[in-house]
Amino acid sequence: MSKLSDYSEIPKAVVSRLQKLGINSLSQLIFHFPLRYLDETKIIRISDLRLGETAQVQAEVKLAEVIYKPRRTLLVKLSDGSGELYIRLLNFYPSQLQQLQAGTVFRILGEVRAGFFGYEMVHPQIRKASETAPVKTTLTPIYPTTAGLSQYTLAKWIDWALAQADLSEFFPANCYPTGMMSFAESMRLIHHPAQSIDLHQLESRQHPAWQRLAYDELLAQQLSMRRHYLSRHRLRAPNIQSDGALIRRFLDGLPFQLTDGQNKVIQEIHGDLNKAFPMNRLLQGDVGSGKTVVATIAALQAIASGYQVALMAPTEILAEQHFKKIAAWFESLGLSCVWLSGSQTKKQKQQHYEFISSGQAHLAIGTHALIQQQVSFAKLGLVIVDEQHRFGVEQRLMLKQKANTDEWIPHQLMMTATPIPRTLSMSYFADLDVSVIDGLPPGRTPIQTKLVNEERRDEVVQLIEKVCQAGTQVYWVCPLIEESEALQLKTALETFERLSADFPNLKVGLVHGKLKAAEKQQVMQAFYANEIQVLVSTTVIEVGVDVPNASIMVIEHAERMGLSQLHQLRGRVGRGSHKSTCILLFQTPLSQMARARLRVVYENTDGFKIAEEDLRLRGPGEFLGTRQSGLPMLKVADLERDKPVLRLAQQQADQILRQHPQGAQRQILRWLGTLQDLATV
Ligand code: ADP
Ligand code: MG
Repeated sequence: MSKLSDYSEIPKAVVSRLQKLGINSLSQLIFHFPLRYLDETKIIRISDLRLGETAQVQAEVKLAEVIYKPRRTLLVKLSDGSGELYIRLLNFYPSQLQQLQAGTVFRILGEVRAGFFGYEMVHPQIRKASETAPVKTTLTPIYPTTAGLSQYTLAKWIDWALAQADLSEFFPANCYPTGMMSFAESMRLIHHPAQSIDLHQLESRQHPAWQRLAYDELLAQQLSMRRHYLSRHRLRAPNIQSDGALIRRFLDGLPFQLTDGQNKVIQEIHGDLNKAFPMNRLLQGDVGSGKTVVATIAALQAIASGYQVALMAPTEILAEQHFKKIAAWFESLGLSCVWLSGSQTKKQKQQHYEFISSGQAHLAIGTHALIQQQVSFAKLGLVIVDEQHRFGVEQRLMLKQKANTDEWIPHQLMMTATPIPRTLSMSYFADLDVSVIDGLPPGRTPIQTKLVNEERRDEVVQLIEKVCQAGTQVYWVCPLIEESEALQLKTALETFERLSADFPNLKVGLVHGKLKAAEKQQVMQAFYANEIQVLVSTTVIEVGVDVPNASIMVIEHAERMGLSQLHQLRGRVGRGSHKSTCILLFQTPLSQMARARLRVVYENTDGFKIAEEDLRLRGPGEFLGTRQSGLPMLKVADLERDKPVLRLAQQQADQILRQHPQGAQRQILRWLGTLQDLATV
């Protein structure tokens, strides 16, 4: 990639301003697209001007004077023989007053407004025009820019970059739909559209030139993802043979039958584990669909073939819960399982490290503790990452590297209850295989969702008093305060005190992110044992916690939370036989967006539907931003608008990779630059 700073012809000051715009390379410069355009191709007679339109006139100054009412203004009267036009400058330099002398002819471009004396333009673009100066033949691009970088300078260097850059086609015509515009033509058109072009089509990015670029960008993304996908097929994976006996023993010990949805994904995972190259599978299943059992079965398969397994979860609470559940299962199978936790003493940890490195531990469970330097596996064959969206790309990579060998790359199973909408899994996650658990285990009672205005909090308190007397338990989630962790903690403490006063007859507990691991553990233990009836919590319980007797979830300031977060929280209840309720407390006034979002959670129980609505409301940038660090965002393509083009790119990618590997490489470089490396999971 040619860096701009390597070109001596660009002034240093320009380079540093471009950097402020995030432009560092030649290709980033040509991909800096106009926001809109000005039509300087025509000169309109003043008598033909229409109110509200942006137009260019050429006229002679008749009078220029500074007036002081209502405030200091330079008022200039111009005429082109057909009529008169006023321009108004609120901030002006003495030099401008001097320049705008009666008798001089100017070219003025601005929006026509109704003024006190007739048509006027406020702060138009003013340029001296000798009668013979040629009128532009193309529309003038207006770029997003930064202080100190004029449109003129920016446009000049973009044009320079267009002349420098390689705009050639990387693939033969048959790789494109017939009639598609060329890359060079599209780029030139977008930066310098002919005057005859449909501006609306161009500005809404529906013009064929934009279609071509969207296709190119999505193709680059597909090529990068698919190349990664295929190169994984050349890696060596642990040799895992299915062992029906061990799994059968495990299944026989379970108090329930697997659902069809679970069986289906287990088959898919089995298929992957039997292959010679490493699995990279994302297991999606709604909250409560039973992903833990599925993960355990995958683990058993690896263990039966003599490998160790690592299971990483994002919170201590969740890791502990997994450990308790799985360790009990393992014990009856004669297998060993260790847990790494922040609450353990140095000595305990040391023992566990040794247990892992000697290969005695079949399964190691933990949070980020698993990727600490001291942890080293003897024979790591499978890594499982629960709630994968809570981890960064690098952390997942580090876990895989714990295999410490050049002989194989461990299989990887990622799990999430935050579904990735189809358009995203087709694009950003095209290098993954995806399994979905359809449906929930039988016997779940549907959760009733209620939207309640904060003003009616007292009624909620009364309801809770009643149901807790009858034996059920409640989660009470404190508002999310993103700006400040300290404030978040303060709110949690206040809520705890207030609810302790509200419920003199109940035991109220508090759990938040700042508690020590051992303290958290104690509180959760008491909640499991129903020694605590109302658990006040920050969003630390968001993921995975499983307490079947808890059947009411209250979420304060629900309007501040993300949709998937609300859905996850809601999924903490409805796990037992009680009728469950999720109460979303909100504070008025609600913005339109907040209202729309709450409605989505209220009306939908399907996590996929919610994720799709969330994506629609927020767009992929924000949707992914909070979940997945390091993914290069699309510059041109819009997954919704360009869905047909996305399908096309998807269909073409493998064949192009096979037939034109070098072109593919150039395409990826052109569009993704060096960011492509980050896309690999
Ligand atoms: P999640 O997919 O949200 O991680 P879990 O794995 O925690 O869900 O499972 C939720 C609960 O459902 C657990 O108590 C688990 O034991 C139970 N469960 C899992 N599979 C089944 C099944 N097939 N039938 C009945 N209960 C099940
Ligand atoms: Mg889970």
